[in-house]
Amino acid sequence: MKALVIGGGWAGISAAMEAARLGWEVVLVEERPYLGGRARSFIDQTTGDVIDNGQHVMMGCYHDLLRIVRDLGTDHLLEAQRALRVAFVDESRGLDVLDASRMPGKLGMAWGLMRLRNLTVAERLAIMRLALTVLRSPQAGRGLTCHEFLIRTAQPEGAVKRFWEPLVLATLNAPVAVAPAELLATVLRLAFFGTTEDAKLLIPTGGLSDLIEPFPAWLAARGGRVHTSTSVDRLRIVDGRAAGADLSDGVCVDVDVVISAVPQRALTRLTLASGVTSVPSAEPEMSPIVSVYLWYDRQWMSVDFAAALGTTIQWVFNKNRTAEGLVALTVSAASDIVRAPSNEIVRLCDAELRRLFSSAMAAAELKHGLVIKEKHATACITPSVHEQRPATDALCGQVRNLLLAGDWTQTQLPATLEGAARSGFAAIAAARSRAQ
Ligand SMILES: Cc1cc2nc3c(=O)[nH]c(=O)nc-3n(C[C@H](O)[C@H](O)[C@H](O)COP(=O)(O)OP(=O)(O)OC[C@H]3O[C@@H](n4cnc5c(N)ncnc54)[C@H](O)[C@@H]3O)c2cc1C
Repeated sequence: MKALVIGGGWAGISAAMEAARLGWEVVLVEERPYLGGRARSFIDQTTGDVIDNGQHVMMGCYHDLLRIVRDLGTDHLLEAQRALRVAFVDESRGLDVLDASRMPGKLGMAWGLMRLRNLTVAERLAIMRLALTVLRSPQAGRGLTCHEFLIRTAQPEGAVKRFWEPLVLATLNAPVAVAPAELLATVLRLAFFGTTEDAKLLIPTGGLSDLIEPFPAWLAARGGRVHTSTSVDRLRIVDGRAAGADLSDGVCVDVDVVISAVPQRALTRLTLASGVTSVPSAEPEMSPIVSVYLWYDRQWMSVDFAAALGTTIQWVFNKNRTAEGLVALTVSAASDIVRAPSNEIVRLCDAELRRLFSSAMAAAELKHGLVIKEKHATACITPSVHEQRPATDALCGQVRNLLLAGDWTQTQLPATLEGAARSGFAAIAAARSRAQ
């Protein structure tokens, strides 16, 4: 079976590996010169340090992603917490830590929540009530935005501001006003209120690209090939199936099955160029993520990372392993600042950090700043967008052997690395059953 995988992000890599495990002959084509798609690392020209296009955090419940890195032998590059531990920093109330390590699984999370000092007892109990609702009812939140769900479950303002908003932004890359409560419920069930193992955060210790670095050799050892700097421009569709694909280097490859693992916009371009007229669903708005790397002359951060409350900055990561004094900041759903000039963003972030960590940073001097604006970081998934996310076989009615993968397809997960990895496995499972 000849499989063409279009796109070398995590969805494409996942599909290619699963197809190769089945003994299929795999060709993966990626239009950029590198693999990894929206999760990659590169060298900062000023310092020579390896940095990511944005700090990525994974969790123990990323089972499909973990299968990939274990097979590639790069799982040791993900540092797992002993149990979930998240610091929250607030200018007026200082540092607070959610530590789920005292008891196993859900009990540990409940214990950690009830010990949060910066929330009132009523706020902590309201959070617990919402979690219990979600754990008891698989339908909880369906069709609602997070905002509507938080109102229905009577969440006090303090719990929304200090707990739910940062959690939703970090996991769904959308504000509570539009993010689907169904996905928040999924995140609570699978991750935060899952097993101790599933709730752990996994932080990459090197560059994101290191996680997939062995992939081309892994694939070659199984008879497959990777073409980078080459795009798939058109599918040759004969009698309702893709018989071949035209690549930008003039080559035409014969195929038995095609896995599209490209973002929705790229799929629309490709299908139109191939004479496929209908698209699986309307293209949603994209939600930007702004990442800021700041190099200080000394290490000043005492925790590994912290959620920042009441600031434009949402998360601060201590990147001391990469360079002493380096911190990475994340602003999700960043449409408010994505158009600001980079030097202004650096100034704003430095000033906010100094407010949050005033004594620790008193002597720290900023040496260098870098802003990375990912304008198309993920789709902005609202309840209606979520409902319309296409299944892997959504286009099979028109092209029998074309399967869809990617974080934007219907994975039942937020648009994440795990969603991408899962979609690749799902596409190959569907291709296999259609071929039988
Ligand atoms: C700044 C930032 C921070 C993030 N943080 C997190 C996080 O903390 N945790 C988390 O789980 N997720 C996070 N994400 C989301 C995660 O990166 C994405 O969900 C995931 O990388 C998507 O993978 P994908 O394979 O579906 O798509 P992509 O990575 O976009 O891969 C698609 C690939 O297809 C290629 N392509 C397009 N058209 C063609 C063509 N015609 N021919 C050949 N190739 C083509 C593209 O070049 C691209 O490489 C973050 C994303 C960003 C941008």
